[in-house]
Amino acid sequence: MNIKRNILLNPGPATTTDTVKAQLMAPDMCHREQDFVDVIEKLRKDLVKIAHGNDKDYVAVLFSGSGTINMDVALNSLLPDGKKVLIVNNGAYSSRAVDICKYYGLSYIELKLDFTAPIEPGNIKEVLNDNPDITLVYTTHHETGSGILNDIRSIGKIVHEHQAVFVVDATSSFALVPLDIVKDNVDFLLASAQKGIAAMPGLSFVIGRRDLIELSKDYPKRSYYCHLYRQYHHFEVDGEMQFTPPVQLVYAAAQGVKEYFAEGENDKYKRIVRVNQAIHEGLKRLGFKEYIKRENQGPLVVSVLYPNDINWDFKKVHDFCYERGFILFPRPVGGVLAFRLGSLGAIDVGDIDNFFKVLKDALLSLKIEVPVRY
Ligand SMILES: *Cc1c(COP(=O)(O)O)cnc(C)c1O
Repeated sequence: MNIKRNILLNPGPATTTDTVKAQLMAPDMCHREQDFVDVIEKLRKDLVKIAHGNDKDYVAVLFSGSGTINMDVALNSLLPDGKKVLIVNNGAYSSRAVDICKYYGLSYIELKLDFTAPIEPGNIKEVLNDNPDITLVYTTHHETGSGILNDIRSIGKIVHEHQAVFVVDATSSFALVPLDIVKDNVDFLLASAQKGIAAMPGLSFVIGRRDLIELSKDYPKRSYYCHLYRQYHHFEVDGEMQFTPPVQLVYAAAQGVKEYFAEGENDKYKRIVRVNQAIHEGLKRLGFKEYIKRENQGPLVVSVLYPNDINWDFKKVHDFCYERGFILFPRPVGGVLAFRLGSLGAIDVGDIDNFFKVLKDALLSLKIEVPVRY
């Protein structure tokens, strides 16, 4: 295939392989055909396998939409009447979950913690003790806005000691950082095709406990289209989504998963770590400072502080890199002026080395002092 390969250093969507891209050119297909039902069925089972669940107790329920659709679905579908959800918030994505609670008028408690450090699991004990009506606890595994990785296993243990259900947004860590839905004490994992499995945006999955979905059947119904039980039920009865699935995106996701298993969980993780390491080293060579302390970061996203140089202009740096096939993410982190470099996609150290050559050229051509100053 002769499609330009861009290196996406933004934290999702990610660089995909040509073999994943090629799936978008599959023959037209009606989603009711058994051939397609078989593909989606296998994809759902494979997603449960990536999470190390068994497919008797765990299911993957797919939705057509970007990753946020999962957050919407999980929050509106899993809260019984008269009960509360606790959002353990240490970043932009859990803040989005708080917004969703507000939109649905859900009873929620927000435990807002330091946005520059991982969650201290002990913090949630007191809230759970004081509020026995919390039946649902929600947090984010990898806070993509900062690069912080939370210790979901320890948090989940406390959640389960309080007999609550634990929902984890693992959108930017699933299929990247090894996760085990059982050992990590998670009931529902949220993930999306454009990140860990390096496929196309527009397809998302809630992976979780079948018994809890069954139990949620009679919970208040707050959405028609974005409803976990409804979608699950259609998969059970027809092997299919409630309404038309994004057929080609399903093919691409299936290919992404195939390539995930071909690379292997450990080798993939090693690659992510070495790409991230190369990012840290390249930044150091050019004098850049990072926003989050190294020991508080996961291996997925680095937040880089804007240097203090009269010629620094993020947009110009971005445009210089963009024209050469490298995409940076401009959005500042929690009001701090920073950009982000992710290691999510089908990229390796050679791509990062090439990127830093281009970044250095960008700095020199804009007459920004190298190493950069603060
Ligand atoms: C990417 C991401 C999402 C989903 O964002 P969309 O813009 O809807 O794709 C949700 N949570 C986390 C942690 C993410 O990284």
